[in-house]
Amino acid sequence: MTIVALVTGGTRGIGAAISRKLKADGYTVVANYCGNDEKAKAFTAETGIPAAKFDVSDYDACQKAVADIEAAHGPVGVLVNNAGITRDGTLLKMDRNAWQEVIDTNLGSCFNMAHAVFPGMKDRKFGRIINIGSINGQAGQYGQVNYAAAKSGIHGFTKALAQEGARFGITVNAIAPGYVDTDMVAAVPKDILDKIIAKIPVGRLGKADDIARGVSFLAAKDADFVTGSTMSINGGQHMY
Ligand code: NDP
Repeated sequence: MTIVALVTGGTRGIGAAISRKLKADGYTVVANYCGNDEKAKAFTAETGIPAAKFDVSDYDACQKAVADIEAAHGPVGVLVNNAGITRDGTLLKMDRNAWQEVIDTNLGSCFNMAHAVFPGMKDRKFGRIINIGSINGQAGQYGQVNYAAAKSGIHGFTKALAQEGARFGITVNAIAPGYVDTDMVAAVPKDILDKIIAKIPVGRLGKADDIARGVSFLAAKDADFVTGSTMSINGGQHMY
């Protein structure tokens, strides 16, 4: 039986590249999404990867979705917590909703999803949990106290859960991408983006496939000695 990999936010952007790569690696992949039905439908038609619609910030929805996915496809062996949003603004202009939504979607989701898959992984003595953090969680970023706090939280969550999972054959790692050419970065004004690219030693934005290759490495069965780590994939922009 092939291992089931569940990728949150897996139908577009970085998540879509991760879903494709894991499918090419031989996993049975299920890609989650939340609102963009059109993109999800097109993604499934193109790749044959089923899409599961649920909100990762909703605890009960995550428990139900994982139960449904496991009933349909088998136990989840690889969880990629990739779904994320931005609601940028300086602290003084940020309202509580923008704070809470980003914390719940980007960080709360890691708890919600891990809580759903961890008991089964523990029983089967195998699991891979890969959390997508961010360079802005490592270094901070002007106008992103919510996003930087959530992503920084992911890095702490990863190290703590790695310690809990180690004796059960469950590894927990994070990837901290630099700026990657997706819809999320398309929202950054061009003048700001040009300044960002000028600071990337390799001289370009990342590609979603750059991140997917990192996930593929961490998901592999023989990556069992790598846990609690953060893999920075950022073109040398931040060496941490
Ligand atoms: P995109 O905005 O391109 O895609 C985000 C994905 O997350 C979509 O599939 C979206 O679903 C899904 N999503 C958003 N909210 C929810 C939710 N509540 N429940 C379920 N799914 C949800 O983002 P990227 O591909 O750029 O980013 C992917 C991850 O990488 C994020 O965690 C981001 O923070 C992180 N990252 C991105 C960087 C970049 O430069 N792009 C840099 C560093 C980190 P739908 O299609 O339905 O909207």
